[in-house]
Amino acid sequence: MKVDVLVLGGGLAGLSAAYHLGERGVRSRLVVEAKDRVGGTAGSVTTGRFTFDYTGHLLHLHDPYGKSLILDLLKDNVAAHERKAWIYSQGAFTRYPFQANTKGLPPETVADCVAGFLETVHRPTPLDRNPDFLSWCRATFGDGITRRFMRPYNEKLWRTPLSKLTTEWQGRFVPKPTASEVLYGALTDGNALFGYNATFRYPVRGGIQSLPDALADRLEPGVVRVDSPVLAVDLREKVASVRGLGEVRYERLVNTLPLNAFLDLAKPLPAGVKAARGDLRWNTVWNLNVGIDRPAPADKHWIYYPEKRFPFYRVGYSSNFSPHLAPEGHAALYLEATRPGGTRVDRDKLEADMIKGLREAGLLRRSDEISAKIWMPVPVGYVVYDRARTPAVNTIFRHLASLGVESIGRYGGWKYSFMEETILDGKRCAERLTGGEPAAEPSAAPLRALK
Ligand SMILES: Cc1cc2nc3c(=O)[nH]c(=O)nc-3n(C[C@H](O)[C@H](O)[C@H](O)COP(=O)(O)OP(=O)(O)OC[C@H]3O[C@@H](n4cnc5c(N)ncnc54)[C@H](O)[C@@H]3O)c2cc1C
Repeated sequence: MKVDVLVLGGGLAGLSAAYHLGERGVRSRLVVEAKDRVGGTAGSVTTGRFTFDYTGHLLHLHDPYGKSLILDLLKDNVAAHERKAWIYSQGAFTRYPFQANTKGLPPETVADCVAGFLETVHRPTPLDRNPDFLSWCRATFGDGITRRFMRPYNEKLWRTPLSKLTTEWQGRFVPKPTASEVLYGALTDGNALFGYNATFRYPVRGGIQSLPDALADRLEPGVVRVDSPVLAVDLREKVASVRGLGEVRYERLVNTLPLNAFLDLAKPLPAGVKAARGDLRWNTVWNLNVGIDRPAPADKHWIYYPEKRFPFYRVGYSSNFSPHLAPEGHAALYLEATRPGGTRVDRDKLEADMIKGLREAGLLRRSDEISAKIWMPVPVGYVVYDRARTPAVNTIFRHLASLGVESIGRYGGWKYSFMEETILDGKRCAERLTGGEPAAEPSAAPLRALK
């Protein structure tokens, strides 16, 4: 088999690349996907009468093109929501984000947080050009907010000392309030919709799976092959070995597999690239989904748990995104914990701890019946932005570009991003391959030039 463009992985990045290549006249393209369905991390699993995503997968639409494409794909199968996100700490629920909503916490905590924030305003701490995340938190939010939320929560999520993380990933994801917003949020419950992503959209039926399904439906029959894992890639010979298809020769390769997994399948690799591969670190998201025979509280979409006594860092009620994810009178919950990628996890123990944690958090009562329970881990869930990440990624991408190989998406691009951006990654990749946008590296010649 021979194609102009071979796309590895049928998640949103791979589907989007194939769709936008088609829009730009490239017909000879093939997407090979290991699982029996498209969508990857933006997929859903139905068990009994519950449908679960890989934790929460909410649509935050910021780009005009991304927004119009996604809304056109979902047509009337989408609803808009105002975020109802909370934090549970020191026995109290406060609104998310913590930095703008301390009302309800013990007075000494509120004072600590507000005073620390005001310090950052009156006596700003100069920061390096590339500060570590801990120093950045202290300089941006002050010691109180850092100690009470930023540090414990982020350590639980990243599983890495914050002084070893960079700030490259956080950008707009961690909003900084003004002094008056901090004071207002300490005195009133008025900052509910503060910050980035205060509203979101979500499919009415079918879970987030309906988005990749709609994108795949735009492709001609045969462009996507599911149940077709790529087993090996010979970068020099430009041939991939795919289970069920045999050898697939390609002109150009687009990888959307997690970069570590792709490099483990690819050969030959120079020593520098192998060394860079060894520097990549990631966390696995251990996502346990639970269905219970009682409706979800109407005022909560999800809750952050920064304290160590809870095994999860976040629990969400997906049946509040769409009532069709759970049978009537039932709630669908997702629980999230992370562990460093590649470490062994005793799943039975973690599950017992998670259920105990749900009881201690008051989310599960003795009288509740668990009607569904399913693990949906994401093996490469969060790329860890330590100091080694960016130099390693640059080395790897320089080499791949010299071979005309694109590596895109949240995991192929080895970054922190979200669904809309992933779809745009696929579009930009198609533009580069067809000469519409300058290639990342001059050696990555546009596809037309190869024909
Ligand atoms: C816990 C969590 C929560 C998130 N929440 C949100 C959210 O609320 N909103 C949002 O916008 N984004 C969210 N995201 C991000 C979103 O999931 C990603 O941006 C997007 O799904 C990434 O798509 P992708 O195509 O880059 O990768 P993937 O979806 O991982 O696609 C890669 C594909 O490659 C396939 N594959 C792997 N190995 C092989 C092989 N050997 N051969 C063939 N195929 C293979 C996989 O099965 C998969 O389908 C979240 C991510 C996580 C982890």
